[in-house]
Amino acid sequence: MAAQIIDGKQVAADMRAELKDEVAKLKEQGIVPGLGVILVGDDPASRSYVTAKERTCEDLGIYSDDNRLAADISQEELLALIDKMNNDPKINGILVQLPLPKGLNEGEVLLKIDPDKDVDGFHPTNVGKMVVGEKAFLPCTPHGVIQLLLRSGVKLEGAEVAIVGRSNIVGKPLANMLIQKNPKGNATVTVCHTRTKDLAAHTKRADIVIAAAGRPNTVTADMVKDGVVVIDVGVNRVDDATKKKGYRLVGDVDFEAVKEKASLITPVPGGVGPMTITMLMYNTVESAKRAAGIAVET
Ligand code: NAP
Repeated sequence: MAAQIIDGKQVAADMRAELKDEVAKLKEQGIVPGLGVILVGDDPASRSYVTAKERTCEDLGIYSDDNRLAADISQEELLALIDKMNNDPKINGILVQLPLPKGLNEGEVLLKIDPDKDVDGFHPTNVGKMVVGEKAFLPCTPHGVIQLLLRSGVKLEGAEVAIVGRSNIVGKPLANMLIQKNPKGNATVTVCHTRTKDLAAHTKRADIVIAAAGRPNTVTADMVKDGVVVIDVGVNRVDDATKKKGYRLVGDVDFEAVKEKASLITPVPGGVGPMTITMLMYNTVESAKRAAGIAVET
């Protein structure tokens, strides 16, 4: 039986509606969540991500302080801007769009962000808190994956999960979140990578397969069991002469074949993608609540 498709756009829209209501209620108490956005250079993909984030802020009623900087800005100037945002009470979250142009030290920039405003969840302080199970800003894409699973009614407790990919932004934090002793975790997790001896042996055993490899067809139908839940984080361009742009986007999973065996599956596009910006907004609202002394979830 063909799988039910997890509609990431709909789940993201539901969460954004909840956040919009929450922002409106905070405003009644004089609290306006604010996001400081920094884009350095004019990389088209980064520009479009930043524009989407700014538009979402506007839609939800979140104040955004937009800073578009020339690619030749010095490290010192960039650090000074982050420092200014760290000390600005109107800013609850700071987003530096990555990658930064060559010549800028990304690690130093991320370390400069006040961990209490690190809504991307990349600062080592937040990474450490997440690992030991303390309240922390959770990185947006892996947290979005967990929200997709929970809001689709998937039971995480006791589930066997195979994650394909061990990057610092997706695979590793996701594994850490899923093993926590809390309702967003309690799963048994295997993390696979390019040195894994027999990838299919791990994915076949899994109740939930999460692909974050950045390579089309990394997970095929013969690699999963019947009824598996599949989350495809991958976004890959493949040539397609029938498209105006000359390419189309696909995930890491052979969607058409795997959907015939899975019980639930995310498409690409329209699965995990819409969740990432939503979770950034979620973290910004949580940060504003924390700053105002209101109890928060993460
Ligand atoms: P990454 O840093 O390139 O990491 C890829 C990981 O996958 C690595 O750990 C690599 O193993 C592993 N891998 C690659 N090919 C494999 C294979 N054939 N078998 C087993 N493991 C394999 O990528 P990333 O930043 O995590 O992103 C992963 C994908 O998710 C990309 O397509 C990216 O565009 C997408 N993404 C989407 C969103 C979104 O919002 N939708 C957000 C972030 C990323 P090694 O460590 O051994 O090299």
